[in-house]
Amino acid sequence: MQPCPVGSPSTAVVNRWYRAHARDLPWRSTTPWGVLVSEFMLQQTPVPRVIPYWTTWMDCWPTPAGLAHATPAAVIRAWGTLGYPRRATRLHEAARTISNAYGGEVPDTYENLIALPGVGDYTANAVLAFAFHKRTTVLDVNVRRVISRAWRGEQHPPAHLTTIERALADSLVPTTPHAASTWAAASMELGAVLCTTTNPQCTACPLTDTCAWNTAGQPKSTHTTRRQPTYTGSDRQERGRILALLRAHDTLTAAALEKDATNPEQHIRARDSLLADGLIATTGRHLHLP
Ligand code: SF4
Repeated sequence: MQPCPVGSPSTAVVNRWYRAHARDLPWRSTTPWGVLVSEFMLQQTPVPRVIPYWTTWMDCWPTPAGLAHATPAAVIRAWGTLGYPRRATRLHEAARTISNAYGGEVPDTYENLIALPGVGDYTANAVLAFAFHKRTTVLDVNVRRVISRAWRGEQHPPAHLTTIERALADSLVPTTPHAASTWAAASMELGAVLCTTTNPQCTACPLTDTCAWNTAGQPKSTHTTRRQPTYTGSDRQERGRILALLRAHDTLTAAALEKDATNPEQHIRARDSLLADGLIATTGRHLHLP
């Protein structure tokens, strides 16, 4: 007698699991603006660090119009230590565009979303799915890993998105907008909490018996994962140190800012890049938030 067919991984199974196990994250029951803010913050920062910042941000600026009227200094201050602070100024610019061009309402088309400052393909699709429950393909690193393992039998996806991956992801999106937007959130959740880069929890996974990689015995990947650049000693760390000082002191001389820098050349490079990005400004010999 033939063994029972194992079956294929199913998006409906993942959606069912999500409805029973989804984390209660504040941006899952909010306005389109709240979704957009969360997507900016989550671009390079993990969920637990984002939650308190998102909550405070939405208390201060519950609408795009509120943020549009804030000063750049207030916005950079509120971004705190979330990292990659250009995201804060881009979100500020996006809020102004939404206020001026869209009557204060986050737009609900891909063309208008992708035209906003700081919004790329991923963010535009994520907002369409999570804020407007539209049928679209949302592909972040977590979703790519789930699809790579469960459907393709590969431990890790390629370093860069391929057309084959994209086509497979498009083909998996459920037909109805409701199921499609649930799949966007569910596949991301599965990748974030169970199908993690190392030590995936396959025994707790709803796809454990159908996942191509798990049922093949978890073979080592032909692709390697991308390494995060080291933060300690980087220009990024020096930029963070300068911004922290200028958040704490309204204004400092260039000499005071440089005083505790570990590498003077790196300090100048970091300071000049912050000036070029519009994250700090000068008045005479003093530096301050813009
Ligand atoms: S069975 Fe394991 S590898 Fe496969 S999707 Fe689930 S957590 Fe990921």
